[in-house]
Amino acid sequence: MAYGDSARSIYQTEIKGIRDAGIFKQERYIHAPQGAEIVVEFPPGSPVKKVINMCANNYLGLSSHPEVIKAAHEGLDCRGYGMSSVRFICGTQDIHRQLENKLTEFLGTEDTLLFPSCMDANAGVFEAILSDKDVMIADRLVHASIVDGMRLCKAMQDTFKHSDMGHLEEKLQEHQDKRFRMIITDGVFSMDGDIVKLDQIVALAEKYDAMVCVDDSHASGFIGKTGRGSHEHCGVVGKIDIITTTLGKALGGASGGCMSGRRELVELCRQKARPYLFSNTVAPVIVYGAIKVLDLISQTTERRDKLEWNTKYWRKLLTEAGFDLKEGDSPIVPVMLYNAKLAQDVARDLYDEGIYAVGFFFPVVPKGAARIRTQLSAAHEKAHLDAAGAAFVKVSKKYKILGKGKKEIIEMYGM
Ligand SMILES: *Cc1c(COP(=O)(O)O)cnc(C)c1O
Repeated sequence: MAYGDSARSIYQTEIKGIRDAGIFKQERYIHAPQGAEIVVEFPPGSPVKKVINMCANNYLGLSSHPEVIKAAHEGLDCRGYGMSSVRFICGTQDIHRQLENKLTEFLGTEDTLLFPSCMDANAGVFEAILSDKDVMIADRLVHASIVDGMRLCKAMQDTFKHSDMGHLEEKLQEHQDKRFRMIITDGVFSMDGDIVKLDQIVALAEKYDAMVCVDDSHASGFIGKTGRGSHEHCGVVGKIDIITTTLGKALGGASGGCMSGRRELVELCRQKARPYLFSNTVAPVIVYGAIKVLDLISQTTERRDKLEWNTKYWRKLLTEAGFDLKEGDSPIVPVMLYNAKLAQDVARDLYDEGIYAVGFFFPVVPKGAARIRTQLSAAHEKAHLDAAGAAFVKVSKKYKILGKGKKEIIEMYGM
């Protein structure tokens, strides 16, 4: 037998190592549609329980919106369930092109190409566009999918310190001998919730003749006055060469992604990007749902405005209660606890109080920077936030951390 005892034992040991390190990821089974309140089975086998969800990427509350669900049903009825083909053989319907055009209009770019996911968009774009004569200069905190996409590309790889414009400028000077320089960044960084300084990046790109690529997965639909993304927030719409983003967060939350930007770059990806060429794109159901999402959020900024209100209210609630929050303007609000075990204990106790939020610690965030990352949604009502705030206060009193800062918490609990 090829998969014999020795292979089995090596893998069992590796899995045990993950458990022993306290970084084993246990799935939680949700017995309900995504929303402000969900029904969760955790740990598996336990009775289900209704909780307030504070950790979804359902920023606009559209994941289970009745109009989006209705549109998805129509998509199923009119265009069937699956394509059974990749795009360039017989897997493109007119509605795929319609959705691409709508995304182009919404993002203020020249053209758009759908991918099975944003992870796939990031895996495909760099290799398709850049060669060994070029350099990619990425912020050190970019998403894992960008790191992987860069690995697949033959261009030289370099990084700059997170959001450090001085360091980026040095790198751009250093790489003036390359054919193309591409600056690569997230629009909103998912662990800290901070927004990229895209106006300064564009200015540096113009000064040093570089292209700019932004992954706006945590921004598309709600960052900026009309929710276009980090480029709108920073006043540089039309100046970003490549935007990659996901349909799997604010824009309905199902799945799918895209790259959007300069006409030639999009065309080249249509010709060459491997995840586009060799994997099915989003199914008709999702295309219909996503078109409806874009129509809804283009008609009114009501949901994005409610999300902003909720974010401000939640920040105020927790700050006044004495929590130590990471500063920022996005609906990602990290509650800093510094110690990994404390973050896990507080998350567990919050769950007992009916609040679902997850602790993050090393290696997902630096050592000594453990936290509970809360995320707001337009699906939250004020009552949800009041209840969640009360639970945070109750649990934190138990651990005596209210009103305490980094130094005091580390003194009490260690790093
Ligand atoms: C979530 C996320 C992705 C992955 O999106 P999928 O469409 O689910 O593959 C990529 N990049 C960033 C920055 C993300 O936050």
